[in-house]
Order: sequence, then C-alpha cells, then structure tokens
Amino acid sequence: MSTFRLDPISKDAVVFAPERNKRPIDGWSSLKPASTKCPFCPGNEHLTPADTFYQKDNFNKWTIRSFPNKYPAFTEPSEHISGIQEVIVESVSHDVNMGHYTRGHLVKVLKAYKNRIASLKSVKNIKYIVVFKNHGFFAGASLEHPHSQVVGIDFVPKAVNKKLKRLKKFYNKTKKCYLCSPDHTKNKIYENSLFIAFVPESVRFAYECWIVPKDHKTYYEQSSHDELNKLAEIILKVFKAVNKCLGFPPFNLIINTGFLASHRSYFHWNIQLIPKTAQFAGFELATGIYINQINPGHAANQLKTYLDK
Ligand SMILES: [Zn+2]
Ligand SMILES: [Zn+2]
Repeated sequence: MSTFRLDPISKDAVVFAPERNKRPIDGWSSLKPASTKCPFCPGNEHLTPADTFYQKDNFNKWTIRSFPNKYPAFTEPSEHISGIQEVIVESVSHDVNMGHYTRGHLVKVLKAYKNRIASLKSVKNIKYIVVFKNHGFFAGASLEHPHSQVVGIDFVPKAVNKKLKRLKKFYNKTKKCYLCSPDHTKNKIYENSLFIAFVPESVRFAYECWIVPKDHKTYYEQSSHDELNKLAEIILKVFKAVNKCLGFPPFNLIINTGFLASHRSYFHWNIQLIPKTAQFAGFELATGIYINQINPGHAANQLKTYLDK
C-alpha cells in the first residue's frame, strides 16, 4: 500500500510505494555510453586545465588531482550569478568504483575535498559550496573515469535556503539540531565511533543513505585526519552494502557542508549517497512528488544484511 509522508524539514512530499519494487535490478554495466579518449587518464593531462591541487606518489606521479572544470555551468560572471567549478580526478584507474578504493586512498580523496572546499570558501563573494559525484551514465556522469566536482556560487539556491530556514526553525523550537535528534537517524545501517549511516524516514529515493557525524559538526572542511579515517571506513561499508544489494548501481554522492558562521548551531554536515534505481518519470517531473519504491526501514534492514556478506 502506498503512503504519503511529508519531510519535516524540506516539506517535500514523498509517496512510499513498496509494491513497485518488484522488477529485478541488474545489467547496469551493460548500459555504458560509448567511450572516447579519456582526458582524466594519466598521459592526457594536456587535455585538461592546469592543476589547482594534486597528491603525488613516491614516484612523483599524481594519484589525485583537481583543476577548473573545462565545461562549467558558470562560464562568465553575469550580473546575477557567478561561480567556480572544479573537477577532482580521484584515481589514475579509469574504471574503479569508489567502493573498491582502499581505505587509505579514500582518506586522501576526502582530504582533497576538504582542501578544495576550504580553497573555494576563501574566494570573495562565494556564498554556497557543494561537493558532488555522479557515477555512471544514468547518474549524470558524462565521463566514466572516477571524478567528483566542487562548486561554489555567489548566491544560496532557493531550495537550500528553504531547508536552512526550516532547520533554523526546528532548532529555535526544540533547542536541538535536527540531525542530532536520535529520532531522525533511527533506520540505522551501520555506525562506528564517530559516524552513523542511516536511511532517513522521509527520504525521496529508494535506498538513499545518509552518513553524518555523531557529534554536532557544521563544517566538513574542519574534519581532522582521524575523523576522515573513520569517515572512509563507514563510506566503504555503506558502498559494500549498496553494491552487493543493488548490483553496482550508478549513484550520486553529495557532501552538504555549512557555509556561513551563522549555521554553526543548526546545520549538521552530511553525506547523501543516492543509488540510481529508477529514472524520474512524468509524475515526479510534473508534481515534484517523488515515488519511493521502498520503505526506509526496510531499505535499512535490507542493506544491513549485506554488510558482512
Ligand atoms: Zn580515464
Ligand atoms: Zn547536529
């Protein structure tokens, strides 16, 4: 039976329709676009702009590098919008899944995110920053080579502003941060000493997982080495469960971090991992109401069973 649920913070309406989850999920790997010469592979650096950041190995070869996006959404500062967009190439391997990174390498990637967020934050007029990763053609990735993007823009998007206002309202009313309240992280998949992974109660997409620090932390880029090490551990656990449960689906990964000093009390940084198990259809596009094929509690329990397989 389908049920409606309203997200208390975003006010997005979601329809949970578990019976729609009957089709088998497989064959993602056969749905790749035709490959062309990859500008992110070692040896093709001349095809990309100059580095803004890099990590090198003992042989002086890069292992992670970032540079301005050659095809940014914000090419020219206009009267209303300007921004910076960078690409972070996460690996020298062309077709490795993030879930297969070693923990040590993932820590380096997480540190690269930290470095680029801090760098973009220091740019004048930047008011909003987000890191995201699209993996797979059907998650919006135009290139197969593992990479992420960091975007800084000079305005706060309407949907983000709306969410911030609701988080602030929740905090003013309850004197608690929304994600610090245990009620909102109850569909737990896994936890370690510093982080918890869970499926939010009114999540829009099937198997969407959130990873958040257990303590109230607002700014991702202030994370210590120990925190990023524990973060890498929980990210790899969640990927293991998602990949085994859903057969290496395309996915989007988003890091939401606080961007103003005033966010400290009520914004809690978080990671959203959204496996792409369905395409948006007319109903979602017309109404903004998302049909989630699986109840969040069931999704969390199902993912949990794959943690130790
Ligand atoms: Zn490549
Ligand atoms: Zn909090």
